[in-house]
Amino acid sequence: MDDYRLTQQLLTGQDPSAMVDVLGCPVHPALVAPFEALCDDAARAGFDLKIVSGFRGFERQLAIWNAKASGRRQLLDSGGRELCFEQLTEAELLESILRWSALPGASRHHWGSDIDVYDAAAVPAGYAVQLSPQEVDDGGPFTALHDWLDHQLANGAGYGFFRPYAHDRGGIAPERWHLSYAPLAARCESGLSVARLRNVLSDADMLLKDAVLAQLDEVYQRYVAVPKEAYPSAYAALLAEGEWG
Ligand SMILES: [Zn+2]
Repeated sequence: MDDYRLTQQLLTGQDPSAMVDVLGCPVHPALVAPFEALCDDAARAGFDLKIVSGFRGFERQLAIWNAKASGRRQLLDSGGRELCFEQLTEAELLESILRWSALPGASRHHWGSDIDVYDAAAVPAGYAVQLSPQEVDDGGPFTALHDWLDHQLANGAGYGFFRPYAHDRGGIAPERWHLSYAPLAARCESGLSVARLRNVLSDADMLLKDAVLAQLDEVYQRYVAVPKEAYPSAYAALLAEGEWG
């Protein structure tokens, strides 16, 4: 576990060569075996646990960011209602993007440790997964899978996986579909920092860059940092004290 090489490239989504594509999406090799174990348990419970999104690189996240910042991609308020780009102040625009999309360089998907999952047995073949609250809340096709996962994670049968966005802390919206592999994610989280992120963003061709850099400390605390308490207690100790603390 201590042989992870956490370079700045890996931490900020610029090292796709560190990933493997054996689970249908590129992910860090460290989570392949534990995810397969979780899949086996899920299959015994009647679910076909699949990954719809794993590693996502910096350039992809930057493209999503710039599309939203220029009104070319749908913008939502904190409750998920559509917003009109032309009517937003810069601060409102920034808030609506950060609530639903990670800052380039600061996505947990950059690490290959985090995945978005669904139950392929609950939908017809070819179903386009939306990653919407309607799919995972009461009455949704993936609600049963997530109720089962809640039970497994709460009972120490999660093989290191946990939900970093289970609760609304006022930053990123709750994402029941998003799982994080704690042994790797805790190390990545400890390795990232405001200074590191500032370095990467300063060189990026990113819209709203000046506004983000001017309030990067606040943005980091509210939208990037996942508190120790959200981690399974067995792995929280891997989070280094300090800036992340
Ligand atoms: Zn996700």
